[in-house]
Amino acid sequence: MRYLILGSGPAGIAAARAARQMEQDAEVVVTTEESAPPYLRPHLPDVVSGEKEAGAVADPQGNALAAERIEVRQGKRARRVDAARNRVTFSDGTEETYNFLLVATGGKPIVPLALMGCPGSFLLLNSLGDALRIRARAMRSDASLVYGPGYLGIEAARALRTLGQQVTWVNPGLPRFGNPISGEIEAKITEKLRKNGVRIKEGTDIADALDLDGGTYNVLTTGGETIRCQMIVVATERLPAVGFLEGSGVKVGTGALVDEYLRTGVSNIYAAGDCAEVFDINRRESRINFGWRSAMKQGQLAGENMAGGNKLYIRNTEDYFGLLYGQPLPERFK
Ligand SMILES: Cc1cc2nc3c(=O)[nH]c(=O)nc-3n(C[C@H](O)[C@H](O)[C@H](O)COP(=O)(O)OP(=O)(O)OC[C@H]3O[C@@H](n4cnc5c(N)ncnc54)[C@H](O)[C@@H]3O)c2cc1C
Repeated sequence: MRYLILGSGPAGIAAARAARQMEQDAEVVVTTEESAPPYLRPHLPDVVSGEKEAGAVADPQGNALAAERIEVRQGKRARRVDAARNRVTFSDGTEETYNFLLVATGGKPIVPLALMGCPGSFLLLNSLGDALRIRARAMRSDASLVYGPGYLGIEAARALRTLGQQVTWVNPGLPRFGNPISGEIEAKITEKLRKNGVRIKEGTDIADALDLDGGTYNVLTTGGETIRCQMIVVATERLPAVGFLEGSGVKVGTGALVDEYLRTGVSNIYAAGDCAEVFDINRRESRINFGWRSAMKQGQLAGENMAGGNKLYIRNTEDYFGLLYGQPLPERFK
């Protein structure tokens, strides 16, 4: 059997290892657009702040993949899935075949439309490359604006403030997709950020960004304010990265739609992690269970099920929020 896995995040790597455990003589191949070995995305803010070096955020799940005979092919971005021929085409023009395919491509941050007119003004916070880019730009600037609701906005603001930046956090409101942090915790953390010198603009949005001199920007808010900065960090929620499934026959809602076994409507294609919209048998509805632990759990289950495991995915609310990776959120802000 040949298992092809798209994405080297926690879902993809857990799936590869589970498929290997289930089937010792299978061919297990992970293809990813990344150039870095698997890393812990939750630690990216620490890379921005300099509390962790890039080399210190490797995902322990990614250790010893070669010893488990799991091949990881980097620099390969999936462009098209031909489900009739069991083939995936990549942006470099190469193709891979499969008996079973797992889509574990996670998500990409939502970029506010208002920033589209000023593309040089903002940097995303999603990948290791992004974190290094933000850190490098912060070294050349004094004032940053962080845009994004909830946990990611908080973490980006904290990291840049730790670096000594003057930080304004524009928090447009509650996240639409993930679990909001409980009101009490968010209020406490927001207060800590404020005490640490972060200027917080809540309930307002970015109306436009104007380039003043190629390195300084005026950000106009819907509340009528103008905020001057040298960098805008977009730390927004991530939407499933599943555009390449168009025309494949795999149904997509917000994410790739899967049943309670994480199988799409195409019987040999599965999806897991932040890109998967999973049918919850208890609530009888489909939803995306964003988060690291949930991605690992779904990845493992999808890997087992592709190899004949036939196991049900049961959502557990602790899978994502109570147990954030690493230190619990409130402790990071003591
Ligand atoms: C800054 C930051 C901090 C976070 N902190 C936390 C936290 O503390 N706790 C928590 O639970 N969650 C946190 N998250 C969310 C968590 O990282 C995700 O929920 C988790 O990584 C999802 O895992 P995944 O495997 O589904 O997707 P991802 O980790 O996103 O992995 C998907 C992989 O697929 C690759 N890919 C995408 N498209 C393609 C393509 N077309 N072809 C090939 N490869 C592709 C991507 O490059 C990526 O490597 C954080 C996220 C960010 C960005």
